[in-house]
Amino acid sequence: MASAADSPIYATLRQRMVDEHLRARGISDERVLEAMACVPRHEFAPPRYRDQAYEDHPLPIGEGQTISQPYIVAIMLEALSLMPSDRVLEVGTGSGYVSALLAQLTAEVIAIERYPALADSASAVLSRLGYRNVRVVVGDGSRGFAEAAPYNAIIVSAAAPQLPHELMEQLAEGGRLIIPIGWEDSQQLQLIEKRNGQPRTSLRELCRFVPLISDKPM
Ligand code: SAH
Repeated sequence: MASAADSPIYATLRQRMVDEHLRARGISDERVLEAMACVPRHEFAPPRYRDQAYEDHPLPIGEGQTISQPYIVAIMLEALSLMPSDRVLEVGTGSGYVSALLAQLTAEVIAIERYPALADSASAVLSRLGYRNVRVVVGDGSRGFAEAAPYNAIIVSAAAPQLPHELMEQLAEGGRLIIPIGWEDSQQLQLIEKRNGQPRTSLRELCRFVPLISDKPM
């Protein structure tokens, strides 16, 4: 059977997702909309969930983890005001879907995932799809990844009780960081900008992510 890598059906469903779930609900950053109309989310979903890849909800990817909901991903990417020259850290790579979007929107992406099996599979899909500017690293992303810091933007795709201080330290001056803060049932996105070395926080949408797991206090 021919590969359905990016059949016209998937492209149509993806454009519908962008129009109905993103643009119609207020996402207006054209670069983000274009990237989401282009990255094949179904490639990051396990085969049995592929037919749901362009619906607006998270999908299971194994290890009790999920691919994030497209609308929330769009909100986070838009809030980060990403520039094509940015270097970005992603904490919680999971399937690699958000890594692919970041790779399309920015110059260089470091993506950290604590489960080796998820990191391997994300890395394999990303290289099969031709993304060359993403490096997937296995590790505890709550401590960031100091050796490639500073970053112009940091996106955390798992919820923490508070902002891990090492992430703030690894953010460049003028950089932006977005993270869901809270507990299992009640989280809110926080956008933090670093100005003159100090965090400027704005509270954003309520959300629900899997927890950021760390062996050490954050
Ligand atoms: N953006 C991803 C979301 C995956 S869910 C996607 O769309 O596929 C969040 C991911 O964060 C999970 O894969 C989980 O294993 C990972 N995670 C949780 N705590 C982590 C930590 N301390 N360091 C790195 N990854 C972590």
